[in-house]
Amino acid sequence: MGGEPVGPAVLEGEIHLAYRWTTGPATGAFLTALRDRGVILGLRCPSCRRVLCPPLEVCPRCGTETAGEVECGPGGRVTAWTLVEAPTPWTPWEAPYALISVRLDGASTDLVHAVTEGARRVRTGARVKAVFRTVGRRVGDILDLEGFAVE
Ligand SMILES: [Zn+2]
Repeated sequence: MGGEPVGPAVLEGEIHLAYRWTTGPATGAFLTALRDRGVILGLRCPSCRRVLCPPLEVCPRCGTETAGEVECGPGGRVTAWTLVEAPTPWTPWEAPYALISVRLDGASTDLVHAVTEGARRVRTGARVKAVFRTVGRRVGDILDLEGFAVE
């Protein structure tokens, strides 16, 4: 006991690491359709016939590879929501906005995104419509779908 040198238990620092992720075939097609066509794509499960939007390569219900592309929305119905009134510098949206789950027309699953127009009027069951980034400013990320407006 005693006699051993005592040093720092923790050294603090930062590691900056540039990285690129592959989007994969399902998300890649989804982002490409948003960017190039202003369309929200889902993928149909050939076994249970559900349309997964956002698309997944494999149906989580039955384990079947998804196949056919289906255009979903641009309208849909809010299934869950929370209103954000305080500024949140870590999000791209200015308060007030609502984080929502939306069941797009033609889809069997919900997409999580935000209502940026009419956020205080969001209710479960409210109709919303997609708002896309202006053509020419789209870059192939989820914010090519800027958000949703309450109808
Ligand atoms: Zn399925």
